[in-house]
Amino acid sequence: MLKDTYCGDLRASDAGRTVRLAGWVHRRRDHGGLIFIDLRDSHGIVQLVFTPDRPEVHAVADRARVEWVLAVEGEVRLRAPNTVNPRLPTGEVEVVPIRCEVLNESLTPPFYINEPADVDERVRLTYRYLDLRRPEVARVIRLRHEVVRFIREFLYARGFTEIETPTLIKSTPEGARDFLVPFRHRPGYFFALPQSPQILKELLMVAGFERYFQLARCYRDEDFRANRVAEHTQLDLEMSFVDESDVMGLIEELYTEIARRFGNGRILQSPFPRLDYFDCMERYGIDRPDLRYGLEQVDITEPLRGTTFNVFASVIAAGGVVKAIRVPGKADFTRRELDSLTEIAKGGGAKGLATIAWLPGGEVRSPIAKFLTPAEIDGIRMRTEACEGDIVLIVADEREVAARSLHLVRDELGDRLGLKDPSVLAFAWVTGFPLLEWRPEEGRWDAMHNPFSGFRPEDEPLLDTDPGRVVSRQYDLVMNGQELGGGSIRINKRAQQEKVFSLMGYSKEEMEARFGALLRALEYGAPPMGGIGAGIDRLIMALVGTDNIRDVIAFPKTSNGTDPMLGAPSPVDPEQLRELGLMLTPEAERNVREAAEL
Ligand code: ASP
Repeated sequence: MLKDTYCGDLRASDAGRTVRLAGWVHRRRDHGGLIFIDLRDSHGIVQLVFTPDRPEVHAVADRARVEWVLAVEGEVRLRAPNTVNPRLPTGEVEVVPIRCEVLNESLTPPFYINEPADVDERVRLTYRYLDLRRPEVARVIRLRHEVVRFIREFLYARGFTEIETPTLIKSTPEGARDFLVPFRHRPGYFFALPQSPQILKELLMVAGFERYFQLARCYRDEDFRANRVAEHTQLDLEMSFVDESDVMGLIEELYTEIARRFGNGRILQSPFPRLDYFDCMERYGIDRPDLRYGLEQVDITEPLRGTTFNVFASVIAAGGVVKAIRVPGKADFTRRELDSLTEIAKGGGAKGLATIAWLPGGEVRSPIAKFLTPAEIDGIRMRTEACEGDIVLIVADEREVAARSLHLVRDELGDRLGLKDPSVLAFAWVTGFPLLEWRPEEGRWDAMHNPFSGFRPEDEPLLDTDPGRVVSRQYDLVMNGQELGGGSIRINKRAQQEKVFSLMGYSKEEMEARFGALLRALEYGAPPMGGIGAGIDRLIMALVGTDNIRDVIAFPKTSNGTDPMLGAPSPVDPEQLRELGLMLTPEAERNVREAAEL
């Protein structure tokens, strides 16, 4: 070994020891005769002091530049009291080298490593190995390691077996597009990368493992959106002979413990609140609400049923709703503030945003007050529990449009009014989802989550008569407005699984071709089973308090899904394509040619 001690580990108690260190030049200060080098390794930084009385060692320090790799042997000594650096864990000591060797030189890095700098993301990712040298960047990756290690130990202690499932498989639908991998040995045939190990983990339950988990890579070819990545890691687990509360209870215990250990004092409510899907949509207009603040949606259709105000009357007559959010103490929102909230509401499909404010003293200020009776205004006030000083923001539309638009308004208010307290982790479960949603364009039902979710036993007859009313045994874990994971108690009988597939429009032949293995396995004593897939990336994001998913991944893609460091994706040799039995379309050819000419 070139070193016997880590730079970052040295403390006052090491004074007097002779140590061998190796690492990178973090910073170098030349004070004429005296040269100081901060040497950095994976444990931290320590100061080296080079004095002119050892000319050959001093000469190496003189030549060294930032990010060069040095090995030194030297004596640890206490710093003079006035030079102690309380910001460094090693700040009480320094090392006086008696030998120093350059192990490698370095070009000048394209950005500062020794101070936090606002560097263009593409440059950071092109030189990610340098970016990862920055202590504040590396810290997050190490925290991720600690969390993952804790998860593993937590599950081992509860009898889970960690099992890897293959990544070259057949399509496992989770509602995204598949990434396909052509198979050279059989041109025209493709593997799909797993959108999740769902089918395989069910097969592991059929196999009798009872408690499985894996930190699984899942691939979903989706359109790029902030914080969506094509491949993500999820804690994927499955258990036999359990019901919803067993899986939810286990995850709740795990996440509570993670937040306690790694959350830096973050606050969470325990037990996690459980919301029914319909109630949740009614109150928040979305199935992954941010529960750090109120501003709930209230249905005010009832007091307006007889209104002569045409905007509301026509919506109500058409079966729509009038919904409102009360914003306490904001009767003084300016015209401009309200105009911009109106634009946000329109983004959700609303035609506008009506407002009623109760000024201190009781006066009502509202552009629509003149169209409403005092009883109607009073009805709105009672329903929303508005007081003097409050404002009520109103959308009248189809139920879904009203819910979505007011969700966007609520979300914006959460930001604007500073209600999204970063020290709170507001976990919650959402349950009671419909099993199926109708796809009018395709004239068929589709699974609201994945097609393997079970349903309430008492709802089974509804599969024939009214499939839209079947309630699934799905549970979603949400936190601070994000979906952190989801799972369900599964279907474990072939006939039920086939029934769901047939409602989704699959013929017997298609079912066999796509899901034959699972359907067969369900006939060989498949136990009752359930599990969850819980995203690791978003959990770490919440713990470190970043809203950029790339911060928590060692080698992330850019926001348009590419890797500028490796230069991936890239065109391949025509020979490779030929072997795979593939040809580029003229459009793809042009794309490759144009990129090459750039
Ligand atoms: N397969 C699901 C997913 O990846 C998780 C689960 O239901 O266990 O979202």
